[in-house]
Amino acid sequence: MKAIKYSKPVSYDQQFLHILADFKNWVYQESRFEIHSNDDPGFSLNDTQSGGLPELSVIHQKVKTCQKCPLGQSRNKAVFADGNPNSPIMLIGEAPGSEEDRLGLPFVGNAGKLLDKMLHSIDLNREKVYICNVLKCRPPGNRNPNDQEIENCSPYLEQQIQMVNPKIIMTLGNFATQFILKVETGISRLRGKTYQLDGRIILPTYHPSALLHNNQLKRPAWNDLKLLKSLILKLKLDNNTY
Ligand code: SF4
Repeated sequence: MKAIKYSKPVSYDQQFLHILADFKNWVYQESRFEIHSNDDPGFSLNDTQSGGLPELSVIHQKVKTCQKCPLGQSRNKAVFADGNPNSPIMLIGEAPGSEEDRLGLPFVGNAGKLLDKMLHSIDLNREKVYICNVLKCRPPGNRNPNDQEIENCSPYLEQQIQMVNPKIIMTLGNFATQFILKVETGISRLRGKTYQLDGRIILPTYHPSALLHNNQLKRPAWNDLKLLKSLILKLKLDNNTY
């Protein structure tokens, strides 16, 4: 991919749009690129069907009225998921923010808008992936989830994973990554690689909100997106049949 040259000073937003456009061009030009990981997925697309829609709706109803932790009292709306429950690709974030709490949908604030652009750059959108969070209710003031909240709420996420049965899970940020991989290592050391877990590929990357606050993280995040695109092509998950 060619290096980007800026002939005059540009804002971070403009730089970001340049990077996205550059990245998208690269994806199209490299449509036959090979997988960047040595991982052999070891399964076929035929195993993808979830068949779990009724069960997911039952879990959703439980989440809507859940009071297992104090966040059930302070939330406006519980945030269960968005996207396609039959998708082989699941994205897992941390917890709802204020906009998500208001609308009852994940990733609809500024970080969500960035996530949409990132997905679009590799020909994905919300109809092609399933998006959810570790916590279903917003921690006040957007503070970090605590251990007790994660312990109380995580069975919902585990059921979602079981029902959706994704081939690839992209974890967004520290909390989702550490919860899924059961490690305490930080995201900076975990990202950029794939992990095999219960027959799924786990691909950690930065949370989009981190990219909004730290421009330096954008380039490695694009590299993670390239890796996701590689996996999608390798596993032939880009045929829109789900
Ligand atoms: S955060 Fe999870 S465990 Fe706590 S009330 Fe909400 S749905 Fe229930």
